[in-house]
Formats: sequence, structure tokens, C-alpha cells
Amino acid sequence: MSNDATVVVSDAVRAFVQRDFGLFIGGAQQRAHSERRLDVFNPASGERLATVVDADATDVDRAVSNARAAFDARVWSGLRPADRERILLRFADLLEAHAEDLAQLETLNQGKSINIARAVEVGATIEYVRYMAGWATKITGETLDVSIPFPPGTRYTAFTRKEPIGVVAGIVPWNFPLMIAVWKLVPALAAGCTIVIKPSPETPLTALRLAELALEAGVPAGVFNVVTGGRECGAALAAHPGISKISFTGSTPTGKLVGTAAVQNMTRFSLELGGKNPAVMLADIDVEQAIQGALAGGFFNQGQVCAAASRIYVHRSKYRQVAEGLADIANAMTLGPGLDPAAQINPLVSALHRDRVDQHIARAQAAGLKFLAGGKPVDLPGYYVRPTVIADVPHDAAIVRDEVFGPVLAIVPFDDPLEALRLANDSPYGLAASLWSNDLKTVMNLVPQIEAGTVWVNCHVPLDPGMPFGGFKQSGIGREFGKYAIEGFTETKSVCIAH
Ligand code: NAD
Repeated sequence: MSNDATVVVSDAVRAFVQRDFGLFIGGAQQRAHSERRLDVFNPASGERLATVVDADATDVDRAVSNARAAFDARVWSGLRPADRERILLRFADLLEAHAEDLAQLETLNQGKSINIARAVEVGATIEYVRYMAGWATKITGETLDVSIPFPPGTRYTAFTRKEPIGVVAGIVPWNFPLMIAVWKLVPALAAGCTIVIKPSPETPLTALRLAELALEAGVPAGVFNVVTGGRECGAALAAHPGISKISFTGSTPTGKLVGTAAVQNMTRFSLELGGKNPAVMLADIDVEQAIQGALAGGFFNQGQVCAAASRIYVHRSKYRQVAEGLADIANAMTLGPGLDPAAQINPLVSALHRDRVDQHIARAQAAGLKFLAGGKPVDLPGYYVRPTVIADVPHDAAIVRDEVFGPVLAIVPFDDPLEALRLANDSPYGLAASLWSNDLKTVMNLVPQIEAGTVWVNCHVPLDPGMPFGGFKQSGIGREFGKYAIEGFTETKSVCIAH
């Protein structure tokens, strides 16, 4: 499937994946206590790319102890905020200097298009680091003119301080491994915390590289640690009493386990979880724009996007045009490895996940649903699923209700905007939604009624570091981005002075 334009992997990336990886603790690669190793695969070929440590509870304890010692020694929070900002900006510069290698490494390990790896995974992440670095110097409390009446004659002045919360555990999924690690890392560091990042066992490589670049930028040893591993490692981290805050991104079932473990220690936590996100297209849509929006929202990163559009509700007057237009494009999309910039659909992250998505599709076929695109096997090495468009789907079909996390669109007609609203909201999830219309009155009537943490209008999926992101309902607890990210990594202390 390669063509002349296929990216040639750099020598630096080839050398990196061949390393004998340990755990990144206390500013260096350390030998692990665990003797188990995890194989890391190239999703485009199914070949083993690298092996990493499958850390156990002893390894996790060591990483947390190092992060705690660095926090208690104030090697990071004790710096002037402007110095923390400068180091984080230097980290952004290093990411930029190594952008192509980081993008190639992510594509090799995750399977995604090199175009997305360059522009989003690395490019947007650099923007995010620079935005968050600026927060280091802008964390403020309040002064309070309090009215405490006794003892008579005493006056009081109170103020609040925003203090770094302590040692953070950042638990990361496999769909945007570098970007989501940084979503946790950089606001935590801007706030003065130390951190242990646990990448997904499928995609651990870029986190290990990030730790080296952060050290090079001047983040002191012990402030940013990486433990690689699977469920045991994640569970040990979530249950560790030395962790002050867990910032978790992943599936809703795992998020519930993390929240339950956290509460036992009163560890603070935020959960960014799954989604089954609707796109609602009203009668006045520009059909071409709506089709492009559904494609971008649904097939971006092979649909392995928590906020992906996967339920497409289209007003009956435009339904056929949109459904057929989507199907024509989906049927013509080219499949190929992420290193081929011309390939439009790339492999899913793992054989296991490909099989899960195939099972969702097989159930929809067994239910007799109407496939306009996809639903056929792929004769390529690697973990591919064809872009799939399923039409006229009844609202109670599993494919409309379950998070598939693959390139699968279910299209449903509606007659009235309020009917579309009811269908869109009738889901346990509430991460994101999009509305497609220029009918301002109807849009502004619907926006407040949509149960989702983000509502896009005439677009689906753009994010900005300053725009809060997180879920209603089973899609999570808490918000990332903007001032909310910083808020989540600080404790508020009230100080009351009698005078
Ligand atoms: P997952 O829940 O299986 O795993 C997420 C992380 O948790 C991994 O690092 C995993 O090793 C770790 N983990 C597993 N068991 C654990 C435990 N008991 N305690 C602590 N950690 C544990 O999710 P995934 O399959 O890696 O990612 C896909 C899911 O992530 C989808 O549901 C998707 O919607 C969600 N996601 C959400 C967002 C968001 O911002 N809301 C973003 C990306 C992905």
C-alpha cells in the first residue's frame, strides 16, 4: 500500500523504538521491579515495534515516592512562576524542534495519519503548551472583606491562596497519546504540581520521549515521571495514597473504577470519559457543508475520538441527499498506513480494538440494518475497518446507543427539531454535540437544551486550549482546558488575619 509519498521514518525514530526501555523515574530511565514486558505493535502491519515495562505496584510506588519527594522539596513549586513559565515555553520549543520525529513515532505506534499526527497530535499540542505555560504567572486568589463580629473591635482581612494540589496521576488512553498526556502534564506543571503519567499499554512510546524532552527543557528530575503498564499499573496508581489528584481520560467503565478507588483516599479526581455524540442537521443545511462536517466529525482518526460524531440526525427533507452523499464519499475513501499521507482511512490502534469494532458492525448486520458503505472485510495487513455508513437506523438499535469508537456513522431521519433534540439527549453520554443550521432562532433555542459539555454549531470537533472541555452525564466529571485545567490542579486555602 505504500506509494512514492510514503514518509520514510527517520533514523532517530528507528533508534528510539529499538531502545531497551525502563521506567522514567527521578529524571532517568530506571530498571523496573516488574520483569513483565508489553509488546507494542505497529497497527499498519501488525508487527512488533518495541517492548516496554509492564509496571507493577512496586514500580508505581517508586514513581509516586519520587514525585512526592520532588514535590515536598519544592524543586518545582518553589521556582518563581515566571521561571516555571519559561521552562514550559522551552519545552514547547523542544517539541517544535522534534515535531517531525514525534509525529512519526506516534503514527508508527498509534496508526493515525501522519497529517493528523503533525497538525493535531504535535502541532496543536505545542499551541496548548504555550497557552498553559502562560497560566503559571496568572494563578490568583481573592481578597475577602469579611464581617466576623467578635471579639468586638477586632477587624479581619481574609484572602484565598491557590496552592498546587500535590502529586498528580495522569492516566492516558490510546487515541491521542501524546496530546492527552500533555493535556494533563502541562497545566499540572503550570500549577506547581509534580506528576506520574501512565500512558496506555498500546501507545506508551511518545510519553517516554516527552519525559526526556521535559528534562532537557529544565523540568527538574522527579517532577515528571512515566510508568508504562496496563490495568494493574493503572489500578495501583489510582489507589495510591500518595497521589493527590487523578486526571483520567478513558472509557466510562474504567473511569468508574478510578473514581471508586480515588474516593477511598479522598484523592481528587477528574474523569474525561466516553461519548456517543450526535450531529443534528436541520432543514436549512447546506448539504455539501453538512456532509463534509459529518465526515470530518465521524471519520477523523478513524472515529477513535471521544467527541466524534457517530449519530447523525438529518431533517427528512435533506435526509436522502446527506445519506447518499456520505455513502458515496465513504465508499471511495482509500485505506492505507498512516505514513502514507494520501491514505484517507488508516488502521485502528490494535487487533483487539479492530475486533471490537467489527463485532459492533456484525451485530448491526445481524439486526438487518441498511449498510450504505462498509461492512465488508479488508484484505490488508494491519488493523483496518472500512468507513461505514448505516442508514434508517431505529433509535433503539445498539449501534445508535453504544460507543463504537471506530469509523461508523449511524444516520437517522427526523421531522421536527424538538424530536431531534429528544433523540440527541436520549443517551447516557453527554460529551459533545453539533447543530447544523443558520436558523439562529432555532439554534439558540436548542443550544441550552442539549445535554452535552460542548455544543458546536456548523462544525464538529474543533478544540481550543482556552475552551473548557468535558462531559455531562456518564461522559465524565470535571473540565479540562482554560482556567478549569488550572483550577483542577490547585487547592484553595483560606487565610484569615485578625488585626
Ligand atoms: P480505557 O478506559 O480502557 O483505558 C484508559 C487508561 O486507563 C489506560 O491507560 C489503561 O491502561 C488505564 N486503566 C485500565 N484499567 C485501569 C484501572 N483499573 N485503574 C486505572 N487505570 C486503568 O480506555 P481506552 O480504551 O484506552 O480509550 C478509549 C476510551 O477513552 C473511549 O471510551 C473514549 O471515549 C475515551 N476517551 C475519552 C476522552 C475524553 O476527553 N472524554 C478522550 C479520549 C478518549
